[in-house]
Amino acid sequence: MPEAAVLQVEDLVVEFPRGRERVLAADGVSLDVQRGEIVGLIGESGCGKSVTALALFRLVPEPGRIVRGTVRLAGVELLGLSERELRRHRGAGIAYVPQEPGEALNPVVRIGSQIVDVMRAHRDVDRRAAWREAVALLRRVGIADPERRARQYAHQFSGGMKQRALIAMALAARPKVLVADEPTTALDPTIQAGILELLATLAREESLGVLLITHDLGVVASICDRVLVMYAGRIVERAAVDELFADPGHPYTRALLAAVPRPGLRRGALPAIPGAVPDLAALPPGCAFHPRCPVAIDACRQVEPAPVELAPGRSVRCLLATPSAPGGDARR
Ligand code: SF4
Repeated sequence: MPEAAVLQVEDLVVEFPRGRERVLAADGVSLDVQRGEIVGLIGESGCGKSVTALALFRLVPEPGRIVRGTVRLAGVELLGLSERELRRHRGAGIAYVPQEPGEALNPVVRIGSQIVDVMRAHRDVDRRAAWREAVALLRRVGIADPERRARQYAHQFSGGMKQRALIAMALAARPKVLVADEPTTALDPTIQAGILELLATLAREESLGVLLITHDLGVVASICDRVLVMYAGRIVERAAVDELFADPGHPYTRALLAAVPRPGLRRGALPAIPGAVPDLAALPPGCAFHPRCPVAIDACRQVEPAPVELAPGRSVRCLLATPSAPGGDARR
Protein backbone atom coordinates (compact mmCIF):
# COMPACT_ATOMS: atom_id res chain seq x y z
CA MET A 1 0.00 0.00 0.00
CA PRO A 2 1.49 3.41 -0.90
CA GLU A 3 2.54 5.61 2.02
CA ALA A 4 0.13 8.46 2.83
CA ALA A 5 1.14 11.72 1.17
CA VAL A 6 2.99 14.13 3.45
CA LEU A 7 1.17 17.03 1.77
CA GLN A 8 -2.40 16.62 0.62
CA VAL A 9 -4.39 19.48 -0.89
CA GLU A 10 -8.06 19.02 -1.75
CA ASP A 11 -10.35 21.30 -3.71
CA LEU A 12 -8.48 24.52 -2.89
CA VAL A 13 -10.25 27.65 -4.09
CA VAL A 14 -8.65 31.12 -3.83
CA GLU A 15 -10.47 34.21 -5.01
CA PHE A 16 -9.61 37.88 -5.48
CA PRO A 17 -12.30 40.52 -5.79
CA ARG A 18 -11.97 42.80 -8.82
CA GLY A 19 -14.69 45.44 -8.93
CA ARG A 20 -17.91 43.48 -8.93
CA GLU A 21 -16.21 40.38 -10.29
CA ARG A 22 -14.40 37.70 -8.38
CA VAL A 23 -11.33 36.16 -9.87
CA LEU A 24 -10.65 32.51 -9.06
CA ALA A 25 -6.85 32.32 -9.04
CA ALA A 26 -6.97 28.70 -7.85
CA ASP A 27 -10.13 26.87 -8.76
CA GLY A 28 -10.53 23.49 -7.10
CA VAL A 29 -6.83 22.60 -6.97
CA SER A 30 -6.04 19.15 -5.57
CA LEU A 31 -2.54 17.76 -5.31
CA ASP A 32 -0.38 15.55 -3.16
CA VAL A 33 3.32 15.15 -2.48
CA GLN A 34 4.92 12.03 -1.01
CA ARG A 35 8.06 11.98 1.16
CA GLY A 36 11.19 12.03 -0.98
CA GLU A 37 9.23 13.04 -4.07
CA ILE A 38 9.57 16.13 -6.27
CA VAL A 39 6.31 17.25 -7.85
CA GLY A 40 6.46 19.97 -10.49
CA LEU A 41 3.64 22.51 -10.81
CA ILE A 42 3.94 24.08 -14.25
CA GLY A 43 2.13 26.55 -16.46
CA GLU A 44 2.53 30.00 -17.99
CA SER A 45 2.77 33.11 -15.81
CA GLY A 46 -0.63 34.10 -14.43
CA CYS A 47 -2.08 30.58 -14.33
CA GLY A 48 -2.29 30.49 -10.51
CA LYS A 49 0.84 28.55 -9.51
CA SER A 50 2.26 31.06 -7.03
CA VAL A 51 -1.12 31.86 -5.47
CA THR A 52 -1.62 28.14 -4.92
CA ALA A 53 1.78 27.97 -3.21
CA LEU A 54 1.01 30.93 -0.93
CA ALA A 55 -2.37 29.45 -0.04
CA LEU A 56 -0.60 26.37 1.37
CA PHE A 57 0.92 28.74 3.97
CA ARG A 58 -2.33 30.71 4.34
CA LEU A 59 -0.39 33.71 3.04
CA VAL A 60 -2.62 34.77 0.15
CA PRO A 61 -2.12 38.54 -0.17
CA GLU A 62 -5.17 40.67 0.65
CA PRO A 63 -7.79 41.21 -0.63
CA GLY A 64 -7.47 37.62 -1.81
CA ARG A 65 -8.95 34.86 0.35
CA ILE A 66 -9.15 31.12 0.55
CA VAL A 67 -12.79 30.27 -0.08
CA ARG A 68 -12.62 26.55 0.59
CA GLY A 69 -10.42 23.50 0.51
CA THR A 70 -8.15 21.52 2.79
CA VAL A 71 -4.36 21.53 3.15
CA ARG A 72 -3.21 18.52 5.17
CA LEU A 73 0.41 18.33 6.27
CA ALA A 74 1.37 14.94 7.70
CA GLY A 75 -2.29 14.51 8.58
CA VAL A 76 -2.77 17.96 10.21
CA GLU A 77 -5.31 20.22 8.50
CA LEU A 78 -3.62 23.65 8.28
CA LEU A 79 -6.42 25.87 7.06
CA GLY A 80 -8.51 25.44 10.21
CA LEU A 81 -5.67 26.18 12.68
CA SER A 82 -5.38 29.34 14.76
CA GLU A 83 -2.67 31.78 13.61
CA ARG A 84 -0.49 30.72 16.58
CA GLU A 85 -0.82 27.01 15.82
CA LEU A 86 -0.20 27.64 12.14
CA ARG A 87 3.06 29.49 12.87
CA ARG A 88 4.40 26.30 14.44
CA HIS A 89 3.80 24.42 11.21
CA ARG A 90 5.12 27.09 8.86
CA GLY A 91 8.81 26.46 8.64
CA ALA A 92 8.88 23.39 10.86
CA GLY A 93 6.39 21.44 8.76
CA ILE A 94 6.33 23.19 5.45
CA ALA A 95 8.94 25.70 4.31
CA TYR A 96 9.08 28.14 1.41
CA VAL A 97 11.98 28.93 -0.90
CA PRO A 98 11.13 32.09 -2.83
CA GLN A 99 12.00 33.21 -6.32
CA GLU A 100 14.18 36.21 -5.50
CA PRO A 101 16.82 35.23 -2.93
CA GLY A 102 18.15 38.80 -2.78
CA GLU A 103 14.84 40.11 -1.50
CA ALA A 104 14.23 37.30 0.97
CA LEU A 105 17.48 37.66 2.93
CA ASN A 106 17.89 40.38 5.54
CA PRO A 107 20.75 42.62 4.33
CA VAL A 108 21.83 43.75 7.82
CA VAL A 109 21.90 40.37 9.61
CA ARG A 110 24.72 37.84 9.14
CA ILE A 111 23.69 34.81 7.08
CA GLY A 112 24.52 32.44 9.94
CA SER A 113 22.39 34.46 12.39
CA GLN A 114 19.42 34.36 10.02
CA ILE A 115 19.64 30.56 9.93
CA VAL A 116 20.02 30.45 13.73
CA ASP A 117 16.91 32.64 14.15
CA VAL A 118 14.80 30.25 12.07
CA MET A 119 16.16 27.29 14.00
CA ARG A 120 15.46 28.81 17.41
CA ALA A 121 11.99 29.98 16.41
CA HIS A 122 11.00 26.36 15.83
CA ARG A 123 13.30 24.24 17.94
CA ASP A 124 14.63 24.18 21.47
CA VAL A 125 18.32 24.68 20.75
CA ASP A 126 20.83 27.03 22.38
CA ARG A 127 22.54 29.72 20.34
CA ARG A 128 25.98 28.14 20.27
CA ALA A 129 24.69 24.74 19.11
CA ALA A 130 22.42 26.48 16.60
CA TRP A 131 25.39 28.37 15.14
CA ARG A 132 27.33 25.12 14.74
CA GLU A 133 24.32 23.60 13.03
CA ALA A 134 23.93 26.67 10.78
CA VAL A 135 27.52 26.23 9.62
CA ALA A 136 26.87 22.53 8.98
CA LEU A 137 23.73 23.43 7.02
CA LEU A 138 25.67 25.88 4.85
CA ARG A 139 28.15 23.08 4.18
CA ARG A 140 25.25 20.69 3.45
CA VAL A 141 23.86 23.00 0.77
CA GLY A 142 27.26 23.23 -0.93
CA ILE A 143 28.67 26.51 0.37
CA ALA A 144 32.47 26.33 0.59
CA ASP A 145 34.24 27.69 3.67
CA PRO A 146 30.97 27.80 5.65
CA GLU A 147 32.54 29.02 8.93
CA ARG A 148 33.63 32.24 7.22
CA ARG A 149 30.52 32.53 5.04
CA ALA A 150 28.19 32.22 8.06
CA ARG A 151 29.66 35.48 9.39
CA GLN A 152 29.06 37.34 6.13
CA TYR A 153 26.09 39.37 4.88
CA ALA A 154 23.84 38.80 1.86
CA HIS A 155 25.65 41.38 -0.31
CA GLN A 156 28.82 39.26 0.01
CA PHE A 157 27.04 36.24 -1.53
CA SER A 158 26.54 35.58 -5.27
CA GLY A 159 23.01 34.85 -6.57
CA GLY A 160 23.54 31.08 -6.43
CA MET A 161 24.99 31.26 -2.91
CA LYS A 162 22.05 33.36 -1.72
CA GLN A 163 19.66 30.71 -3.05
CA ARG A 164 21.68 27.98 -1.29
CA ALA A 165 21.60 30.04 1.93
CA LEU A 166 17.83 30.34 1.64
CA ILE A 167 17.52 26.59 1.22
CA ALA A 168 19.70 26.20 4.34
CA MET A 169 17.33 28.56 6.18
CA ALA A 170 14.34 26.55 5.01
CA LEU A 171 15.98 23.35 6.25
CA ALA A 172 16.87 24.88 9.63
CA ALA A 173 13.46 24.11 11.07
CA ARG A 174 13.60 20.51 9.70
CA PRO A 175 10.53 20.73 7.45
CA LYS A 176 8.79 17.75 5.91
CA VAL A 177 7.87 19.65 2.75
CA LEU A 178 9.70 22.32 0.80
CA VAL A 179 7.76 24.56 -1.56
CA ALA A 180 10.19 26.12 -4.03
CA ASP A 181 8.72 28.88 -6.19
CA GLU A 182 10.80 29.31 -9.36
CA PRO A 183 13.97 28.87 -7.27
CA THR A 184 16.33 29.05 -10.24
CA THR A 185 14.71 31.67 -12.47
CA ALA A 186 17.13 34.45 -11.56
CA LEU A 187 20.23 32.26 -11.92
CA ASP A 188 22.45 31.45 -14.87
CA PRO A 189 22.25 27.88 -16.28
CA THR A 190 25.31 26.38 -14.54
CA ILE A 191 24.30 27.73 -11.12
CA GLN A 192 20.72 26.63 -11.86
CA ALA A 193 21.89 23.03 -12.45
CA GLY A 194 23.72 23.02 -9.10
CA ILE A 195 20.63 24.22 -7.20
CA LEU A 196 18.40 21.64 -8.89
CA GLU A 197 20.85 18.89 -8.07
CA LEU A 198 20.85 20.07 -4.47
CA LEU A 199 17.03 19.90 -4.29
CA ALA A 200 17.07 16.40 -5.78
CA THR A 201 19.71 15.26 -3.26
CA LEU A 202 17.76 16.74 -0.34
CA ALA A 203 14.54 15.08 -1.46
CA ARG A 204 16.29 11.74 -1.73
CA GLU A 205 18.53 11.84 1.34
CA GLU A 206 16.27 13.75 3.76
CA SER A 207 12.98 12.21 2.54
CA LEU A 208 11.80 15.73 1.90
CA GLY A 209 8.67 16.24 -0.19
CA VAL A 210 9.28 19.04 -2.70
CA LEU A 211 6.64 21.01 -4.58
CA LEU A 212 8.54 22.78 -7.33
CA ILE A 213 6.79 25.66 -9.05
CA THR A 214 8.21 26.52 -12.42
CA HIS A 215 7.41 27.49 -15.97
CA ASP A 216 10.59 25.79 -17.18
CA LEU A 217 10.01 22.34 -18.69
CA GLY A 218 13.76 21.67 -18.74
CA VAL A 219 13.77 22.00 -14.94
CA VAL A 220 10.80 19.64 -14.70
CA ALA A 221 12.42 17.03 -16.94
CA SER A 222 15.66 17.12 -14.99
CA ILE A 223 14.41 16.54 -11.44
CA CYS A 224 10.66 15.99 -11.06
CA ASP A 225 9.00 12.64 -10.40
CA ARG A 226 5.47 13.81 -11.21
CA VAL A 227 4.03 16.87 -12.90
CA LEU A 228 0.87 18.92 -12.54
CA VAL A 229 0.02 21.23 -15.41
CA MET A 230 -2.00 24.30 -14.46
CA TYR A 231 -4.05 26.54 -16.74
CA ALA A 232 -6.40 29.37 -15.74
CA GLY A 233 -6.40 28.37 -12.06
CA ARG A 234 -7.01 24.66 -12.65
CA ILE A 235 -4.94 21.52 -12.86
CA VAL A 236 -5.52 20.33 -16.44
CA GLU A 237 -3.15 17.37 -16.48
CA ARG A 238 -1.36 15.22 -13.91
CA ALA A 239 1.15 12.54 -14.84
CA ALA A 240 4.46 10.92 -14.02
CA VAL A 241 7.21 12.98 -15.62
CA ASP A 242 8.20 10.28 -18.17
CA GLU A 243 4.60 9.81 -19.28
CA LEU A 244 4.05 13.53 -19.63
CA PHE A 245 7.05 14.04 -21.89
CA ALA A 246 6.52 10.82 -23.88
CA ASP A 247 2.78 11.18 -24.37
CA PRO A 248 1.27 14.50 -23.22
CA GLY A 249 -2.48 14.12 -22.86
CA HIS A 250 -3.82 17.68 -22.78
CA PRO A 251 -3.61 19.94 -25.85
CA TYR A 252 -2.16 22.68 -23.61
CA THR A 253 0.61 20.36 -22.39
CA ARG A 254 1.34 19.39 -25.99
CA ALA A 255 1.55 23.06 -26.93
CA LEU A 256 3.89 23.80 -23.99
CA LEU A 257 6.18 20.93 -24.99
CA ALA A 258 6.15 21.95 -28.64
CA ALA A 259 7.23 25.46 -27.65
CA VAL A 260 10.46 24.25 -26.00
CA PRO A 261 13.52 25.09 -28.15
CA ARG A 262 15.39 22.01 -29.43
CA PRO A 263 18.83 21.74 -30.95
CA GLY A 264 18.71 21.73 -34.74
CA LEU A 265 15.39 23.57 -34.99
CA ARG A 266 15.34 26.06 -37.88
CA ARG A 267 15.31 29.73 -36.88
CA GLY A 268 11.69 30.92 -36.72
CA ALA A 269 10.36 27.33 -36.70
CA LEU A 270 9.57 27.22 -32.97
CA PRO A 271 5.79 27.02 -32.58
CA ALA A 272 4.39 29.48 -30.02
CA ILE A 273 1.05 28.93 -28.26
CA PRO A 274 -1.36 31.29 -30.04
CA GLY A 275 -3.12 33.99 -28.00
CA ALA A 276 -2.47 34.69 -24.33
CA VAL A 277 -3.41 33.30 -20.93
CA PRO A 278 -7.01 34.46 -20.38
CA ASP A 279 -7.97 37.15 -17.89
CA LEU A 280 -9.14 35.12 -14.89
CA ALA A 281 -11.99 37.61 -14.34
CA ALA A 282 -13.34 36.97 -17.81
CA LEU A 283 -12.73 33.33 -18.62
CA PRO A 284 -14.20 32.09 -21.88
CA PRO A 285 -17.23 29.79 -21.48
CA GLY A 286 -16.72 26.04 -21.70
CA CYS A 287 -13.07 25.00 -21.68
CA ALA A 288 -10.89 27.99 -20.71
CA PHE A 289 -8.28 26.84 -23.24
CA HIS A 290 -10.65 26.68 -26.22
CA PRO A 291 -9.67 30.01 -27.88
CA ARG A 292 -6.06 28.73 -28.11
CA CYS A 293 -6.72 25.04 -28.66
CA PRO A 294 -5.89 23.68 -32.12
CA VAL A 295 -8.23 20.69 -31.74
CA ALA A 296 -11.24 22.40 -30.11
CA ILE A 297 -14.67 21.18 -31.16
CA ASP A 298 -18.00 23.01 -30.85
CA ALA A 299 -18.76 21.47 -27.45
CA CYS A 300 -15.55 22.99 -26.04
CA ARG A 301 -17.16 26.44 -26.24
CA GLN A 302 -20.04 25.39 -24.01
CA VAL A 303 -19.05 22.49 -21.78
CA GLU A 304 -16.51 22.79 -18.99
CA PRO A 305 -14.41 19.63 -19.04
CA ALA A 306 -14.08 17.56 -15.86
CA PRO A 307 -10.91 15.60 -15.09
CA VAL A 308 -10.83 12.25 -16.89
CA GLU A 309 -8.71 9.47 -15.39
CA LEU A 310 -6.57 7.91 -18.11
CA ALA A 311 -4.71 5.57 -15.78
CA PRO A 312 -4.07 5.43 -12.02
CA GLY A 313 -2.42 8.74 -11.10
CA ARG A 314 -2.87 10.11 -14.60
CA SER A 315 -5.69 12.51 -15.51
CA VAL A 316 -6.53 15.09 -18.14
CA ARG A 317 -9.19 17.78 -18.10
CA CYS A 318 -10.29 17.69 -21.75
CA LEU A 319 -13.51 16.76 -23.53
CA LEU A 320 -11.57 14.67 -26.04
CA ALA A 321 -10.01 12.46 -23.38
CA THR A 322 -11.57 9.01 -23.00
CA PRO A 323 -11.64 7.31 -19.61
CA SER A 324 -9.54 4.19 -19.32
CA ALA A 325 -11.45 0.93 -19.73
CA PRO A 326 -10.95 -1.48 -16.81
CA GLY A 327 -7.70 -3.33 -17.53
CA GLY A 328 -7.23 -1.48 -20.82
CA ASP A 329 -5.48 1.59 -22.16
CA ALA A 330 -7.08 4.98 -22.27
CA ARG A 331 -7.78 6.52 -25.66
CA ARG A 332 -7.56 10.14 -26.59
FE1 SF4 B 1 -9.09 21.72 -26.41
FE2 SF4 B 1 -11.67 21.17 -26.12
FE3 SF4 B 1 -9.87 19.72 -24.84
FE4 SF4 B 1 -10.33 22.22 -24.10
S1 SF4 B 1 -11.77 20.53 -23.98
S2 SF4 B 1 -8.36 21.28 -24.34
S3 SF4 B 1 -10.72 23.19 -26.05
S4 SF4 B 1 -10.16 19.86 -27.06
